[in-house]
Amino acid sequence: MGFKGKIALITGSGRGLGKAMALTLAKHGCSIIINDRGEGNEEALQTVKEIRGMGATAEYLSADVSDFESCKKLAEAVRGKFERVDILINNAGITKDRTLKKMAPEEWYPVINVNLNSMYNVTHNLLELIPDGGRIINISSVVAFLGNFGQTNYAATKAGIIGFTKSLAKELGKRKITVNAVAPGFIKTPMTDQIPVEMLDTILQLIPLREMGGSEDIAEAVLFLASDGAKYITGTALRVDGGLSF
Ligand code: NAD
Repeated sequence: MGFKGKIALITGSGRGLGKAMALTLAKHGCSIIINDRGEGNEEALQTVKEIRGMGATAEYLSADVSDFESCKKLAEAVRGKFERVDILINNAGITKDRTLKKMAPEEWYPVINVNLNSMYNVTHNLLELIPDGGRIINISSVVAFLGNFGQTNYAATKAGIIGFTKSLAKELGKRKITVNAVAPGFIKTPMTDQIPVEMLDTILQLIPLREMGGSEDIAEAVLFLASDGAKYITGTALRVDGGLSF
């Protein structure tokens, strides 16, 4: 797929979907920059170890994606160690669910900062390190299209990511940099393992494919959008949700 020698940076990739993306891109020959919060982040260091164990190059560069100055430092570190980023994946995200009536500023603002302001903080600072023909992939969610009870904050960010993606795709098209979003549906992760069985049954009835996705389903979609084969796809939001949102 032409990934040999490519450098990929995935935000929030110490665990979860970001880690799955990192392992998949590494398997196909990419050098990987793992980003997450906190210098001694055990999960992130473990992910680096696993990738190196596969014989690929990996480095952990910590940064808080909700903080502009932190992302500026991240870009400086990337410039010093790798010089460029061919594939940027804006994946870091959090939830703080509450109905709007009860939602406190401590639940609204951090979600906007980590999920949406990070798009500006990370992409703005790294943009000059992305060569012509590069790839930017932003992780949205099915809730961008459907909304979700108790997630006004989260859904607003995930819908915002799609507007950001489409606008940036128009700005960077002349440099052949593609900008796309991936919108995962219900994916089996430690987070979704906590959904009560009865509720899970109801959710599964709404999914035409009648099952939850795996992290590998998201990683494979990202791999495709990052590949040479996706060079004529930009400004799209690829739904990986078993049909839940169409
Ligand atoms: P996760 O909580 O397992 O992983 C998120 C990672 O981001 C963690 O390692 C966390 O430390 C990191 N992170 C959080 N805040 C950060 C910050 N300020 N700076 C840097 N890193 C930070 O979550 P996940 O399920 O792997 O989700 C990954 C992305 O996929 C998120 O954007 C999420 O909204 C989206 N998503 C997930 C699902 C799902 O079912 N899991 C569905 C739709 C969308």
